[in-house]
This record gives sequence, C-alpha cells and structure tokens, in this order.
Amino acid sequence: METAKLEHYLAYKPQPFTRAERDRVTILFGGLHWRVERLIQGAMGNLGYRSQVLPTATREDLLTGRELADIGQCCPTSFTTGNLANVLRRETQQRGAKEVASNYVYVTAGACGACRFGQYHQSYELALRNAGLDSFRMFLLAQNGLEQGAAEGGGLELNLPFTLGAIWAVIVGDLIQDVEYQIRPYEVNPGDTERVAKESIEYLHGIFDRSPVSGMAKWSAPLWYVGTRRFVDALREVRRRFDQIEVDRLRVKPVVKITGEFYLQTVEGEPNYNIHRWLESEGAEVYPAAITIWLDYLMRLAGQDYADHIGIDRHARLKAGAIKAGQGLLRWTYNRMRKALADLPHEMPDQREIRTLAAPYYHSRLNGGEGDMLIGKALWAYHHKKAHMTCELSPYSCMPNTMSVGAMAAVTGKYPDMLYAPLEIKGDAEVHALSRCQMILTEAKRRAQREFEDTLKVNGITLERARELLESFPEMKRATYRVPRLGAAGTAANLVHHLAARARS
Ligand code: SF4
Repeated sequence: METAKLEHYLAYKPQPFTRAERDRVTILFGGLHWRVERLIQGAMGNLGYRSQVLPTATREDLLTGRELADIGQCCPTSFTTGNLANVLRRETQQRGAKEVASNYVYVTAGACGACRFGQYHQSYELALRNAGLDSFRMFLLAQNGLEQGAAEGGGLELNLPFTLGAIWAVIVGDLIQDVEYQIRPYEVNPGDTERVAKESIEYLHGIFDRSPVSGMAKWSAPLWYVGTRRFVDALREVRRRFDQIEVDRLRVKPVVKITGEFYLQTVEGEPNYNIHRWLESEGAEVYPAAITIWLDYLMRLAGQDYADHIGIDRHARLKAGAIKAGQGLLRWTYNRMRKALADLPHEMPDQREIRTLAAPYYHSRLNGGEGDMLIGKALWAYHHKKAHMTCELSPYSCMPNTMSVGAMAAVTGKYPDMLYAPLEIKGDAEVHALSRCQMILTEAKRRAQREFEDTLKVNGITLERARELLESFPEMKRATYRVPRLGAAGTAANLVHHLAARARS
C-alpha cells in the first residue's frame, strides 16, 4: 500500500526581478483611487520604473476571483485577485504566458494580521497557478517600513525615495479628491469639476515625474520631501484652476461620510457599486475617505505597540517617540498642502480622539482591517457635525468589519439620532445595498433641509434674501472659497450663517 507523501508548506517566493530588467519590465499595481494611482505612477517614473495601473475591478473580475481562488474569501480579495488574473489573461492571449511572466511583475501591499489581508498573496498565487501563470512574479510592499531594501534580484528597491514618493502622491491625490467632491455637487456648469480634476492630476503627474529626487542620494530624499515647496506651489496652481469653476452652494444637500474597509471605501467603481457617484446622483455631497488617514492610523498602531513595550524593550520609548514625530510630520505636510488649496480639504482627525471615542465600544489593540477607526470616525463625524450621515462599506465575509458593525449597534443604541448606514457589499447585490442606503439617505435629506430652514429662520432671512446676499459677495461663488463651519453639518446652512454674518458686519 502506498503511503501519503509528506510535503511541507512553502511560502510563496517569486523568481528574482533583476536590476538589469528594470528598463523593460512593467510593474503592475492598483486598488486605490485613480488620482493617487496616477501620481504614484509619476513618482515611480521619476525613479526609472515602468509601471501600469490596473483598471478598476469589475463584476467580471469578482467572478474570476471566486472561480480561481477561495470562494469564501472576502470580496475585496476576490475583486483584486480576479482583476489581476483577467488583466494577465488578456495579455497572455496577445503575447503568450512566457512573455507576460518575463515582462510584467505585480507589486501590492502585504501584511500579516488578523484578517484576510495577510493572505492576499496566497490568493493571488493560487489564482495565477489555476490560470496557468505560475511563474509570474509578485512582490509585497510591507505596510510598516519606509526603507525595506531591495526585493529579490534588486530590480525593485523599496527604499526611502520610493516610499516617500508614494506617500506624497497619496497626500496630494487625497487632497484633490476631497476638493473635487466638495465642488462637483455645487458646480453651475456640469462637467467643469471633472475636467479640472483630470487636468490637475495630469499636471501633478508631471510634477512627480520630473522631480529632482531621481538624482539624489537616498538619504537626501527625506530632507528634500520635507523642505521642498515644489508640491505646495503646484497645488497653488491647481487651486487657481479650480477657482475658475462657478458654484452655487445654496443647494441643500446632505453630507454623507464614507467609511468602511480600506479597499471598498477607497476605490470608485463596481467593487462598491459606484457608491460615490450614486450618492451624488441622489443629491448628496460625499465626504470621501482619505488614504492619508489610514497611514496615520498605521503609525498610531505601531506607536501603541511600542508604548505597550515600555519597560520590556529598552528602546520602546524612543521608538514610540519616533512614531509620534512621524505622525506630526505627516499632519504638518498634509496641512501645508491643504493650505495651498485654501484650506478647502477636510482636516485630518486626531487619532488620539478617534481612539478615545471608540474605546467604550471597540478595543484599540484589535487591529484587523480598520480596527477601532470605523467606530471612532463615525462618532467623530457625529459629534463634530461633519456629516448628516455615515455610510459604512462592509465587505461580505470580512471579519473586522463584522465586528465593528456589531459594535456600532451599541453606538447607535446610545445615540439613536445618529444616521448610520452599514452596507454589506458582496459585489453582486447592488439593489439590496443601494436600497438600504437610500432609506437612511432619505432621512439625511430631510435633516439637511430642516437644518437649512432653521438656519434661515435663526438669521431672520429668506432664501431670496440669501440669494441676493450671495450676488453681492461674488467671491463666494468661486469653487475654492472656503465657507467657514459655523455649527451646521450642511454646506448650504453654513453659507447662510456666513452670508448673514457678512451682511451684519
Ligand atoms: S479588512 Fe476585511 S475585507 Fe479587508 S482584507 Fe481584511 S477581511 Fe478582507
């Protein structure tokens, strides 16, 4: 009788990607929003890498991901796995598997942790094997290191110039996204915002692509990034472009804050049923989820870990201090660039406050997915009147999000007037998710209208008078005019407060 052969598990290890291959091999990446992806491409081009952004995943990719990898995996894993597999399949049909394996590599974020995120590369590996592309090379970018050295073969150097370029691209891309979402619902000429956003990202792509970082020693890059005015000046130019757009901010719209699992809250497309655009088409102003906040959160998690080891690890205090300084630098950089855009983009929430708000409901050391941030962000938006409603995008089969949705039951029990729409996203149940969102959105619209009417009453003016006042302050019709937050969640209500105050002064 034949006995079973014992085979040990071997973790995925790609074939080397050598330095000599860098000029002809294209690096594939994706899974973020298009603005950040395009800017990262610019930063990579500056360092001599050829790159290609994967298209936003589609329903077809979801089905491919389920077919080729584990069918029970969370839907972001299925979407991204299927997306990579389909792109490679199409390329294979044109060029053959050998050429695809030789001319492309894939780079993605990797992690270990409580959830599926730590297993993404295994799903990719399984899917590629099932698709007949076993020799295709994938490289993981760890989330917790600025200087990770060269990947196997030296073709990809995950060093400071690379990582800082990506972080700066994230910050700039997030700021443009934020401005865009604050302007589009109020634009007088439909299409203006879209056009300017696209032109601005192309312009900024050039700013990253032609930056002087490529010629620098790697340890000079951090000093250059922190000190340079290159991006601030470029954003001033972008502000000038957005400034040409005329807006009518007396349109009453509920503000909907997007939160949820990282991938689903970030992408704009079929993976989240195009929720951003759908909300806008339903009359809302969307408050998008910035990736920069996720970076701040990752630093907070690392800082917490070091703080827990004070007295055990003799360098822990120093490391915790370094993380705090890193967080301060991130915030300073974000605010500096935000200022170049007239302070129009939303501010970054303070991670200490997020943690404190979430603490009664969710332990800050539970670190899968967005951890306690989902609870903290919803409460932050509620207490500070940042939005009328929070829409949380929870992937089907996501362990951390299932926990946070459970914890949110206690939050909404304590604050019954909080408008919170947790949407389970399966990828193929659009009507169900959007109809659920619409139920809460209807109430958010009512609240925004009531808030607006109350504001008119408090200030003793009518809508017609508010319109007259707006005509007498034409600068307020410019897209980058910042309406101060004067106690209301809605843009139109804050504008009424502001107009009345200006008329009185
Ligand atoms: S956070 Fe949820 S959806 Fe995202 S990788 Fe982890 S388990 Fe999957």
